[in-house]
Amino acid sequence: GPGSLALLGPAPGAPSCPHGPALLFVKTSQGKEEGRRFYACSACRDRKDCNFFQWADEKMSETRLAAREEYNRNHQPPFTHRQNVDRYKNFVLLPLSKRRFCQECQQLLLPAEWEKHSDHQFLCGITTAQLKSPSQLLYPLENKKTNAQYLFADRSCQFLLNLLIDLGFRRVLSVGTPRLHEMIQSRVSQEEEFSVRSLLLDIDFRYSQFYTEDEFCHYNMFNHHFFGGEAARETCRKFLYEEDGERVIMVTDPPFGGLVEALASSFKKLMAMWKETEKEGHDNKEMPMFWIFPYFFESRILDFFPSFSMMDYQVDYDNHALYKHGKTGRRQSPVRIFTNLTPSMIVLPEEEGYRFCTLCQRYVSSGNQHCEICNSCTSKDGRRWKHCVLCKKCVKPSWFHCNNCSCCTLQKHSCEKADVGCFVCGKAGHKRSACPSLS
Ligand code: SAH
Ligand code: ZN
Ligand code: ZN
Ligand code: ZN
Ligand code: ZN
Repeated sequence: GPGSLALLGPAPGAPSCPHGPALLFVKTSQGKEEGRRFYACSACRDRKDCNFFQWADEKMSETRLAAREEYNRNHQPPFTHRQNVDRYKNFVLLPLSKRRFCQECQQLLLPAEWEKHSDHQFLCGITTAQLKSPSQLLYPLENKKTNAQYLFADRSCQFLLNLLIDLGFRRVLSVGTPRLHEMIQSRVSQEEEFSVRSLLLDIDFRYSQFYTEDEFCHYNMFNHHFFGGEAARETCRKFLYEEDGERVIMVTDPPFGGLVEALASSFKKLMAMWKETEKEGHDNKEMPMFWIFPYFFESRILDFFPSFSMMDYQVDYDNHALYKHGKTGRRQSPVRIFTNLTPSMIVLPEEEGYRFCTLCQRYVSSGNQHCEICNSCTSKDGRRWKHCVLCKKCVKPSWFHCNNCSCCTLQKHSCEKADVGCFVCGKAGHKRSACPSLS
């Protein structure tokens, strides 16, 4: 068959790039049985962002190893987290007129540094309110393949936070959710009786300028790497320990670029960390989790987390043209909440059209009809789906049953089947780029 590329995962003794241990992949070329293994950067799927590459069977000379170490050292952020915390303390002592933020370096400036940034664009008079909303001050890193920083619309963020509180959680492990973290932090500083705490784990080190080591860990969710070493790992472990019955939930909104297995492997390690904190063990329970991801990854997520189910709630974003709220005439967001909590407990807002299906025992979107044959509310995208007797399941309203392919698909498709399943939906007949889920 055609060549393919597969992730083997984190491997013991893997070489490191500036983003921590590299991941092991295997590449099989056309007609060959045995694949060749190689290591590549876990975080950056764009070679422009990190070009780390090494064949697994490649002999590395001492000189090359030394050069690599040197390279990794030189590609660390200019300040440590500790230094950034101290800088922040000094920054807030400055009068408003002296508080500058360099837009080019994305850095708070102390007066002694102005000179160095004199030909850079900067913002003046940075207020306390601005310091408390770093996600507004920093520009979103939208480069698709690496950071893919898409920030929650206020409505969705409020909804998530209220939902967590109503469910009784008092601690939130925010993995790649800076805006949720920020909303929690600012409520803490504004409302005396607000008792929710959050720890942000994110690869975006710019946030270390605004949060202490107890509030932010520089973390890579594709290889479970804590850049701050054992101390940062310990901060996370402590946070997961549920003192005084303060229940913990993890909320994550990873980049959608694929590598679901790498994410799942890291999330399982975070879950294990939670489990180990409890002396009596959490019986057979899993750490509660919200994994925010597009609906077309449902089967991939369930492969790794069979206890999860997908909620109908559409998560909206501020800076994503496509993923905004449907009701206002724009495109509907494909992004959903996957959770291991009992679906009936996840109450979705009725004012946005969600209603409770007593047969499914969960809230569903307004257009989602309960199919008598499937005995479930089958729509994934919010539109009403139709049942196909030949496929024995409900399909998108725009699909039709192709007798050649003996499955439902888009009217416009080519019947030749590709050998390997699509990377996105796992079905045969098309490649990832032509996946009908993405259309
Ligand atoms: N909707 C969320 C942001 C999600 S965007 C919110 O508004 O809070 C994806 C987030 O994951 C970004 O914050 C990005 O910096 C972070 N991220 C991207 N790659 C990562 C990695 N390898 N490890 C940890 N975090 C990562
Ligand atoms: Zn890298
Ligand atoms: Zn139903
Ligand atoms: Zn059906
Ligand atoms: Zn069909």
